Parts: sequence; structure tokens; C-alpha cells
Amino acid sequence: MNAKDWAAAVIKQDEIDKYLVGGKDFIDEGKIYEELEKQKNPDKQQVRDILQKSLDIKILTPAETALLLNVEDPELLQEMRETALQVKRKVYDNRIVFFAPLYLSNVCVNSCKYCGFRAENKEEKRHVLSMDEVRAETAAVIDEGHKRMIAVYGEHPLSGADYIADSISTIYSVKRTTPTGNGFNNIRRVNVNAAPMEIADLKKLWRVGIGTYQVFQETYNHERYAELHPANTVKGNYRWRLYALHRAMDAGIDDVAMGALFGLYDWKFEVMGLLYHALDLERQFGIGPHTVSFPRMQPAPGSFLSEHSPYLVSDEATRRLVTVLRLAIPYSGLIVTCREEAGLKRELIHLGCTQTDASSKLGIGAYSQKLKQEDNPDKVQFMLGDQHSLDEEVKLLAEDGMITSFCTAGYRCGRTGDKIMNLLEKGVEGKFCKLNAVLTFREYLNDYASPETRAVGEKLIEQELREIENTPFFTDKKLLPTFRSYYERIARGERDLYM
Ligand code: SF4
Repeated sequence: MNAKDWAAAVIKQDEIDKYLVGGKDFIDEGKIYEELEKQKNPDKQQVRDILQKSLDIKILTPAETALLLNVEDPELLQEMRETALQVKRKVYDNRIVFFAPLYLSNVCVNSCKYCGFRAENKEEKRHVLSMDEVRAETAAVIDEGHKRMIAVYGEHPLSGADYIADSISTIYSVKRTTPTGNGFNNIRRVNVNAAPMEIADLKKLWRVGIGTYQVFQETYNHERYAELHPANTVKGNYRWRLYALHRAMDAGIDDVAMGALFGLYDWKFEVMGLLYHALDLERQFGIGPHTVSFPRMQPAPGSFLSEHSPYLVSDEATRRLVTVLRLAIPYSGLIVTCREEAGLKRELIHLGCTQTDASSKLGIGAYSQKLKQEDNPDKVQFMLGDQHSLDEEVKLLAEDGMITSFCTAGYRCGRTGDKIMNLLEKGVEGKFCKLNAVLTFREYLNDYASPETRAVGEKLIEQELREIENTPFFTDKKLLPTFRSYYERIARGERDLYM
């Protein structure tokens, strides 16, 4: 089937209509503008009451979120930042999770005005990785020390559901001997960023063990969305995209991730859109998003809009939107990526982000060919702001008291969907994660860390071990003996033991 016929057959209207209420979707622009207008000049006590609700790990209402978005008082903004960090510590402790993005294809049937991969950009050299190339890329990512990957695909018949399923299986199949010869390392969780799909296709991904399924709405504003995504493209259908995660839930993928591309429209509106999206998932499935992303538009080769949008978001507005997202959807992870320049990225991690990437290469085939981004700008979707290696990042964050977690145990132990939501809200997931963070950090320090990173990491891991030994939760739940034995076995060379 050619790309045009394929695109025409993708959208299944009944898999949109079933989620609508009275024929309407959950984004009501009039209501959002009204809420943002009504909550101007927030009262101090009102703000403090809302902060208390966030600390109780309860999702906020749209009115409460609108109120926080309108805070301008520096003293209150500072209180919000401090509370955001407390919320993060309560749910996720001092952990940071790393992943590597892998771009498998840059073919695309769409024409998003801000993207270098859009179909009519003839400057772009197109490629879809063969399974041999996927193996080579995966091997290079594993050799950096990564255990978690996000596989990224353009929307095209050459990279449809069958290709995605094959590539997930291929990524899982690659095993590499560790540099120290201590067993093997592999990618233990493959998350996927791909176009919206029908439920039957999503089931194919579920069957091969997809981790999180991630679809960004780009902008939640209907009108702006229509301006940026031509109506004669698949992506031009706003609602097909808006309900992509709902369909994933119906396909059995209960671990979903949402996001907006900040810079396409007003940032306060987008935060409200994300909140409404989380609320609708909760309402229809009882499960919110596992993570929320807030990528900021970066210059993209061949895209004028990426540098000249009237809605580009300043660094200060980015700090504020991260703070409000942390407070508004307190149980969700927040992802900051290497799109951001290193200093701001680290600041945002300290404000409440829980996941990030490192050693990232966005070019198709760039890991195995060891290409730098300046070597192949015609094959990247946008330019990176932070090009630190994983080892450098692990060291920098360890110096700030943050432990890098390579844990992927959650979904393998069935801690996903409503189970993980429940554990996150009660602050219990963070406890299991603490143990698994230490176990996987031990693996990383033994297998991949440079001598400088190991020196900093050993001090941090000692502190973590002391904290674990002195935390009543671990003693009460009788977790300590198993943890101690796993830690010793890993130190002796066994791998992939988790709680
Ligand atoms: S943003 Fe995604 S869908 Fe749009 S042109 Fe780029 S790769 Fe294609």
C-alpha cells in the first residue's frame, strides 16, 4: 500500500467516538480561558491550601491549577518551588532515572510545520533502520551503561506497528558482555514514542513487552493544532491523537506518557490541557499518566517556525511550568531531556523532574557510527542543548546527592497501571525504588563508571545503605535480608536482581 492510501486507512472513527462525552472531547477552550481569567491575583492562603493538597499527593482541580499558574508574587513562587521539591522527595525520593532515546526512522507521512522530518522537507535524508542496524545501535547504547530506552518512530507504513513490534523484540534480544566481564548487560525496558494507533495494533506492542507508550499532543488548542498540522494528513486529526493513550489503555497498555511541545501555544494553556488529559484518563480508566513531558521547541533544520514561533517559552516560564506540573499531577514522573541546555536541565531536575536522558544521539544510526550531532544535522529532528555523557551526568548528580537509578523492575513485577498509581500516591513505590536504585547503581559503578564517577558514587552509595538500614519501613516489611543478599551477590558479579 502506498503512503497516501495507508494514511487514509489509519484512523478508525469509532475508536475516537467511544471516548467522547456528548460528542465533545475533554478540551474546552472557553472553559480553560475562563478558569485562567477567574483565578487572577491569587490569595496567599488559597495558594498554601492548594500546596497542602499537593503534599497529600492528590491531583489538583483545573481551578486550583489555574490559580497556581497565575502566581506572580516572588515569595509565593519560592514556596511553590520548595513544595514541588518536597512532593518529589515524598514520591520519588532522591532518585533520577536515565534512559537513552533511539531514533529508528525518520520517514513520515505528516507535515507538521515545526518539524524537520515533515514529508515535504526534501533536504532530509530518509532511513529506516534494518533489524541488523537496530542490533548495532542497541549494542552501542548498552555499552554506555544504559538499561532503559525510548524507541522513537516516524509515522509511515515502513515503520508501522509490525515494524515497531519487531524492533522492540530485537532490542530486547541484544545482550552484551559488561566491560569487566561480570555477566551481560541488556536493555531491560523499551518505552515507545510513536504515532497514535488503532487498538488492534497497540495490542501487538503489548504482546512484545512494550514499557511505556508515549504520545505527545503537541498543542492542546484545537485551532492552533489545525494551523500546524494540515487537515489532509493523519496528524491533522486532533481527536485521533487526543485519544491515543485511551486506546492504549483499552489495548492493555496501562503505562502511558503524555506531553505537549511547549512553544507552539501559550504555556499556561498547555499545562491546563495536560491536566485535563490526566483527569480524563483517571475518569475513564482510574489510571493517570506515568510520566509527563514538556519538551520545549528547539531549532530544527529546515523549520522556520521552530525559531520564530510567537509562543517560545523563556527559561523562567519553563521553571514555573515544571513547578506547577509537579504540584498539579504529583504522582506522575516528569521528564526533562537533553533538548535543554545542561545548566537549566540540572535546575529542573532539582525542581521536580524524575527522568532524563544522557549520551543521547538523535541521528538515525548515530550511536553505532559514533556520530556527533554536527556530523549529521540533516538526519536529526532538532538540535540538542546538553551533550554530556551518561558517566558525566551520573557523577554530576551524585555530587548533588542524587542517585541514578537504572531500575526497570516495576513493570516486570507487575507494578504498573492502577497498582503503581496506588503505590506512588501512598509513597510506597518510592521505597521499593530506593532498594532497586541502589542495586542498579552498584551494577553501574562496577561495570561502567569512570574512576572519578566511581569515587563520588561510592560515597553516595554508602550514605544510601546507611539510610536503608535505618528506615523502619524496610525492617517492618522484612525486606532487609533479601536486599543485603542481592547487594552482595551483585558486588560479586551477578546481574539483574531486583525487589
Ligand atoms: S512531528 Fe512527528 S509526525 Fe510531525 S512531521 Fe515530525 S516526525 Fe512527522
